[in-house]
Amino acid sequence: MAATSPSPMITDLHRAGAASDVFAGAARLAAPPAIPAFARRRMTTGLPEVSEVDVVRHFTRLSQESHGVDNGPYPLGSCTMKYNPKRNDALAALPGFAHAHPMQDADTLGGVWEMYERLQAMICEVTGMDACCLAPAAGAHGELAGLLVIRAHFAKLDDRRPIVLVPDSAHGTNPASASMAGFDCRIVPSDLKGRVDIVALREMLTPDVAAFMLTNPSTLGLFEDQIVEIADAVHANGSLLYYDGANLNALMGIVRPGDMGFDVVHVNVHKTFSTPHGGGGPGAGPVAVKASLAAYLPSPVAIRRNGVAQRDDDRPLSIGRMKSFHGHVAVLLRAYGYLRTMGAAGLRQASENAVLNANYLQHQLAPMLPPVYDQFCKHETLLSGEKLNTSARQFAKRLIDYGIHPPTLVGAGCVYFPGDLKSAMLIEPTETETKASLDYQVEIFQRVFNEDTNDQALVESAPVSRKTARIVLDN
Ligand SMILES: *Cc1c(COP(=O)(O)O)cnc(C)c1O
Repeated sequence: MAATSPSPMITDLHRAGAASDVFAGAARLAAPPAIPAFARRRMTTGLPEVSEVDVVRHFTRLSQESHGVDNGPYPLGSCTMKYNPKRNDALAALPGFAHAHPMQDADTLGGVWEMYERLQAMICEVTGMDACCLAPAAGAHGELAGLLVIRAHFAKLDDRRPIVLVPDSAHGTNPASASMAGFDCRIVPSDLKGRVDIVALREMLTPDVAAFMLTNPSTLGLFEDQIVEIADAVHANGSLLYYDGANLNALMGIVRPGDMGFDVVHVNVHKTFSTPHGGGGPGAGPVAVKASLAAYLPSPVAIRRNGVAQRDDDRPLSIGRMKSFHGHVAVLLRAYGYLRTMGAAGLRQASENAVLNANYLQHQLAPMLPPVYDQFCKHETLLSGEKLNTSARQFAKRLIDYGIHPPTLVGAGCVYFPGDLKSAMLIEPTETETKASLDYQVEIFQRVFNEDTNDQALVESAPVSRKTARIVLDN
């Protein structure tokens, strides 16, 4: 390729001597210390010699091979993939935060502790709790922290309670966290309306039960309307009620777990407060509790003393550290930015829109995929694949060909769910999809439904348009 002539601006800089000054400046810097001989490379690395355009095209292509909220609808039920506002990224890139070093003296991180203290307070306000620790790295990690807090509470009372109850609709992390925290887990059945079977729950509430873990609305997208009775029964037994906050985005600003009777909550900031899901990278799952449990929260937490936010390590009853250094500052900063941007009214509106969008989709899709529980849903809805010739599983795979992320599949061979549910999918449009986008999704669902009627072989072979197609298993 012929060399292009320098742009006028660069030529001017050269004329002014500016560019050569820069190089002269660099030359004056002290040479870095030599790399010791043992650490020097002895062979060439064999890296390809490629141009910038090739590299940019390569990574742009790779980035488009995986599906994300930035390139299409993501109606994944339960594990909401919200949009990630770009302004949050600008916040997280502020040099004062981005350049802070984990080994830096905590006293020099005033801004981080200030942001943490305010974020803790906002999480307490939204959840109706009294104290919060931001350290856990994900929802599941928050569950572990919350359950260790519960264990510490009963240990202090010298009350041996080795059992934790979870409903059969619980996310798999609930029983996993309970056993990691040293509890035995028992499963509470759901009733025909998809709610906790309260008669069964009462029978299972024996004096050795430490806690009942519940998410509300449930992973079936249904509000647990007997929650006050449930909380009363749990508390009358001397047990605690744990709130799995994964579905908090259906309730923000409308009703608070603390007011429903929950004692401990975790919040998945990537599901509720618009932080990235992380792709296996750093996340955050703050844990918050009622005042009577505050002393056991993990350390450190931020406190305000004489008006100054600071780190508090002096907490003798704390369960200890859940995370090295200060937790995931850049993630928590994004959650902070989101909460400040939305404000109380904005959060409520986000929840209302999430519920409205889910009900709109539930209604529009009902002729093809009737809801398993025929009632208004909250932020997500469970749709039955009973009318399909293929299956919900194949239906979801075909959606991939049209650029829609497959919803969470429920039923045989998929996620474990209550009862004899055979083939269903959980759909959660989120509050950020417009009506036009929802209508587009309905249109695509209709197209796949027609294919399911007319060309089942096509639907069975999906996805056909992706780099990674089906893995065909030999029988
Ligand atoms: C996602 C989810 C979890 C686990 O949260 P992570 O942040 O993925 O660890 C727990 N419970 C429910 C209901 C969930 O949807």
